[in-house]
Amino acid sequence: MMAKRICVLGSTGSIGTQTLDLCAALGYSVTGLAAGRDVDLLARQIRLFAPEFVAVADEDAAQRLRFMTGTERFTLFSGADAATRLARECDADLFVNAMGGICGLLPSIEVARRPVTLATANKESIVAGGDLIFAEAKQSGCRILPIDSEHSAIFQVLQGDPNDPRYLKRLIITASGGPFRGKDPNDLWEVSPEEAARHPIWKMGKKVSVDSATLMNKGLELIEAARLFCVPEDRITIALHPQSVIHSLAEFCDGAILAQMGTPDMHTCIKFALTYPARADALNLPLDLTHLSLELSETKEGEYPMVDLAREALRRGGASPCILNAADEAAVSLFLQNKIRFPEIFSIVRETFETTKAPSVRDARDLLELDSSIKASISQAK
Ligand code: MG
Repeated sequence: MMAKRICVLGSTGSIGTQTLDLCAALGYSVTGLAAGRDVDLLARQIRLFAPEFVAVADEDAAQRLRFMTGTERFTLFSGADAATRLARECDADLFVNAMGGICGLLPSIEVARRPVTLATANKESIVAGGDLIFAEAKQSGCRILPIDSEHSAIFQVLQGDPNDPRYLKRLIITASGGPFRGKDPNDLWEVSPEEAARHPIWKMGKKVSVDSATLMNKGLELIEAARLFCVPEDRITIALHPQSVIHSLAEFCDGAILAQMGTPDMHTCIKFALTYPARADALNLPLDLTHLSLELSETKEGEYPMVDLAREALRRGGASPCILNAADEAAVSLFLQNKIRFPEIFSIVRETFETTKAPSVRDARDLLELDSSIKASISQAK
């Protein structure tokens, strides 16, 4: 298998560190690393992988890194646009966008302008600015591969001629249901950020864990799937599947349903994006099939308010998904800071989505301006 040169944006987060484990196991070289502010971990990664380029978003943290590692061996970008500059200048075959939140949008657009591969776990950028990213990729020939487990599963079952998207009838995205599965949000006034972020199955960052608890994660993934696979929202359903062994399914026009299964572990999904179109035996966590029993129960519209809002955002199109995403990022951030209670995430997101007028969007700057103004008004209100 050909060794690839990888650039990891968001290298110190959950997906970023697992990506680097895989790069080491696969013998891939790492030519660029971008992180927010965790320079202790970043410095260890630099020693291990010797990248040519490093980006740090936080200026103070960048200063600390200069002190810790010196800068003779790599080019260092610092500041808010550091990851975007890295995306533009780093020499790599494949860029992994493992950043969290809308701050991954400009870096993704920058990568999409180059004839490389963009493997993305940054769902917020696909939700808010997918149109812009895919338009750039179409011009440059950039290949976009999903890392999110559901989308990786769908991508995998769509490989090969009989599984061509033209035969696709619908997508079925699985949902573990998060830590509060089956509970009414109104009974969850007392839950702490730690409880909400303690996902029963997946090990993930805090924001996506809280999104799993509200089911907004499925809403965002529904929009992500619609954009990645060009499927309208009325042909995507959500099925509760507490074991998280089936990562998602696709139904074809002849009635066949294909599923991708595996241990709930992100390494497999990241690895598929890294090695595509090949597969590799590295860091496998085999699924134990001896006593496997699986539950699957399809949900309907009206059952999960955040999923319904996501459907509405898709139907409205334009800036609507960006509004929904900004409201969610802001509300979850307030919740993680203990400034609001868990059920208030729902009311803030719904109210913001219903009352914000969607402006017309020409480019990423318009989206980012809209995003900041929504976030500012939500945090001012609290
Ligand atoms: Mg997912």
